[in-house]
Amino acid sequence: MPAVIEVSCINCDMCVPECPNDAISLGAKHYEVDPTLCTECVGYYDKPTCIAVCPIDCIYLEPSN
Ligand code: SF4
Ligand code: SF4
Repeated sequence: MPAVIEVSCINCDMCVPECPNDAISLGAKHYEVDPTLCTECVGYYDKPTCIAVCPIDCIYLEPSN
């Protein structure tokens, strides 16, 4: 499931250069993940690196149904 950025994102930019798939970009109000590009960092990192670097923990993996 792709990563999701909550509205509490403070647009600090830290996650953007860390994403191996360039899946994170600035949306209308805050940064957003393109779910078609996010691969949960599989093959690059053990855990989603955007979640690891976000200073306010506002990114989560979309729960699977
Ligand atoms: S989980 Fe990985 S691939 Fe997905 S948006 Fe975050 S850094 Fe990018
Ligand atoms: S690291 Fe967190 S607070 Fe910073 S831009 Fe990314 S999602 Fe937003």
